Amino acid sequence: MKENTVPADPLKRSARREEICRIFGESYDRARWNDWRWQMHHRFIKPEQFKQLLRLTGAERRGLAMSQEKFAVAVTPHFAELIDPNDPSCPIRLQVVPREEELLVGPGDMTDPCGEDHDSPMPGLVHRYPDRVLLLALDTCAAYCRYCTRSRLVSQGGLDPLPRRVDAIVAYLEQHTEVRDVLLSGGDPLLMSDDRLDDLLGRLSAIPHIEFLRIGSRVPSFLPQRVTPELVAVLRKHRVWLSLHFCHAREITPEVARACDLLADGGIPLGSQTVLLRGVNDDVQTLKDLFHALLRVRVRPYYLYQCDPVVGTGHLRTSVHRGMELMNGLRGHTTGYAVPTYVIDAPGGGGKVPIQAETILDYQNGHVSLRNWAGQAYSYVDPAEHA
Ligand SMILES: *Cc1c(COP(=O)(O)O)cnc(C)c1O
Repeated sequence: MKENTVPADPLKRSARREEICRIFGESYDRARWNDWRWQMHHRFIKPEQFKQLLRLTGAERRGLAMSQEKFAVAVTPHFAELIDPNDPSCPIRLQVVPREEELLVGPGDMTDPCGEDHDSPMPGLVHRYPDRVLLLALDTCAAYCRYCTRSRLVSQGGLDPLPRRVDAIVAYLEQHTEVRDVLLSGGDPLLMSDDRLDDLLGRLSAIPHIEFLRIGSRVPSFLPQRVTPELVAVLRKHRVWLSLHFCHAREITPEVARACDLLADGGIPLGSQTVLLRGVNDDVQTLKDLFHALLRVRVRPYYLYQCDPVVGTGHLRTSVHRGMELMNGLRGHTTGYAVPTYVIDAPGGGGKVPIQAETILDYQNGHVSLRNWAGQAYSYVDPAEHA
C-alpha cells in the first residue's frame, strides 16, 4: 500500500516523541504514548509548552496569550507531533495553534453562525430538519480546531453534563415520532467512556422510531489511540455510523490508518467531513491527496464545508468562488467516491445548502444542454411525452 504520511521515518518519529515527552518531564515510552488517557493528560495547553514545541511567531505568541480566556487551546501529543516546528504556515499548525487574528471581528461574523441556538428545544439538542436531530453530547474535545463552529459552547463549560440532560432529551425524542435519525456531536462523543457511550446509545436505540444513529467525531484524527476493540464493539452493537473529521492528508498517520482499519473491519460505516481552510487545504492537489488517502483507509468523503463565519476565523476562510473552482477540479477528474458534497451551512439557520457547479447550460422543450467535467457540451433529450 502507498505510504501517505509525512513523518514516515521511525527513527525521526521517536526522536520527536522524545522531545515532546521531555516537555512534560517524561521520557518516551511507546506503550504510554499509545494509551489515550496518557495522551489526554499530556495535552499542550499552556503558552510555555508551545514555546518548547515550536518556533513561535509573534502572532502565535500573542494568540496563545489571548486565547486562554476566549476559546481554549489544547493539542494532543499525537497531533502535536505532526506539526512542523519551523514552518508557521504548516497546515497542521494552522488548524490548532491560535493567532492574534482570532481577535479580529469581520462584518457578518457571528458567535452562532448556523443559528443552532434558535432551533434548540432544550440545551444540547438542535432540531432543525423534521426527521433528524443533532445531540450535543459533551462540550469538550481532544483538541480544539481554531475554526470551531461551536466555540461558543465547546471548551467553555457551555453545557450541563449529559447525565443531567439526558432524561429530558430522551423524553423529547419519545414524543417526537417524526425523528428517525440522531446525530451525536458536540464536543466529541468519543471522549465518553465506553460504558457511558453504550448507555446513551442504548437509551436512544430503545426509542422505537429512532432507526439511525451516527456520531460526528474528530477523535480518530486527534486521538486515534482512543479507537480500541472495546469501543468498536460498542459502536457495532448499536449499528452506529461514524462521520470523522480530517482536513489534510498529513493527518492520516499509521496510527490513524490502524484506527480506521479497526473501525472498518468492525463493520462501522465511515464518512469524513472536511472544512475548507485558507492555507490548509485550499488547492486541488491538497484536497485530492486528502480524499485519496481517506479512500485508502476506507473512509468516504461526505461533506466539504465552506468555513462558517464564526467570530475570529476570517484569516482561515476562503471565498465561495474558490470553493467552486476546487470542486470543478475534483468532479470527473478523480474517483466519484473521492468527491464530497460541497455545502454552506446557511448562516442564520438555513441548514446545509449544496453548492454545485453549473452543469446545465440550457433546458428547454425537453432538451438539456450539459457541460461535462472537461468543459465540453453534450445534450440529453427527454422522452417524447414530457417534451
Ligand atoms: C448537519 C446537521 C444535521 C445532519 O444533516 P445531514 O445532511 O443529514 O448529514 C442534522 N441537524 C443539524 C442541526 C445539522 O447541522
